[in-house]
Amino acid sequence: MELERAFAVAEFTVLNNIRSPNTTFVKGIRGDLPSIIACQVMKKYGHQKTIREVRNVNLIVPGQGIKFFEETNSIWIPCLKLHLENMIPTVFTKINQIELDKEFAYVSCTIPERPEMIPQQFIGVDRNTTGHVAVTANPDTGKIEKFGKSALHIHRKYRAIRARLQHEGKFRELKMVKDRESRIVKDLNHKISRKIVNMAQAQHAALVFEDLGGIRKTRKQHRSFKYALHSWSFYQLQTFVEYKAKLLGIPVLYVDPAYTSQDCSMCGARGQRDGKNFKCPACGHVDHADVNAAFNIALKVKDMIDRTQKEMCTMGALIPHDTMLECTVTLEPPML
Ligand SMILES: [Zn+2]
Repeated sequence: MELERAFAVAEFTVLNNIRSPNTTFVKGIRGDLPSIIACQVMKKYGHQKTIREVRNVNLIVPGQGIKFFEETNSIWIPCLKLHLENMIPTVFTKINQIELDKEFAYVSCTIPERPEMIPQQFIGVDRNTTGHVAVTANPDTGKIEKFGKSALHIHRKYRAIRARLQHEGKFRELKMVKDRESRIVKDLNHKISRKIVNMAQAQHAALVFEDLGGIRKTRKQHRSFKYALHSWSFYQLQTFVEYKAKLLGIPVLYVDPAYTSQDCSMCGARGQRDGKNFKCPACGHVDHADVNAAFNIALKVKDMIDRTQKEMCTMGALIPHDTMLECTVTLEPPML
């Protein structure tokens, strides 16, 4: 199998500390692994100074070893005699590389960046809410959506398992359970970010997040700890939304998080938050606390625009059209 050969080549490269790829070194080891792939594997593993153990080696095919047929939207990799059908979901300028594992083909390509759309509306995205991964609200339409209710159950379930394994000193199992939880959360974040971005596209709206200053400060101090999920998962959701939005030209904006959960989204007075409930003493407005916060997040941008009397288009129209960005597209199983 090619993957086993690639693994052997990677291991040999690391063990012998080979800096410059030379496939004659690995002639015996690579067997029928095409030299173009052996070379890429050596290139990758030869430059990793800190690696001790080689795991999960992929077959790396460089751009020159790939043929793309535009009419059929399919890829042909001659050295592996591998055909990938109907695969690329986006417009691209160039395929840079394909990595293959047992299940997937990771196609890295350069795509022309879409010009940012000019937002007509703003959707506030509140993360780390009391029962969902994210709650969104559009002040122009009043539309509210909640995403990822299952995350809390997943979090609780795995927290209990982790605590038990920790207590029993089963650290190998603990690591496996942590990895499994990460995969489930990552998958969920991919799905939620896709829904949020598609929703923004349909409403011609920009997405507004709180600027929480990175992973460490993501957990809001004023919110009940018992609801808090992993802070990395919120950061992950943000990065997924950002890159998916970028591909579609949807602006993603950030606002100062101060008072987004205390102020009243109807009248702006400082209200009271008690767990899931928000109550405004000034106007009597009562709302779900996360919904109120999501409205406030979007309103911060709208207020800013009103205040400065600027046209919305100045926010979106000044992005150069010819900038390129790198992306990796994960494809269906190629049946290796
Ligand atoms: Zn109020």
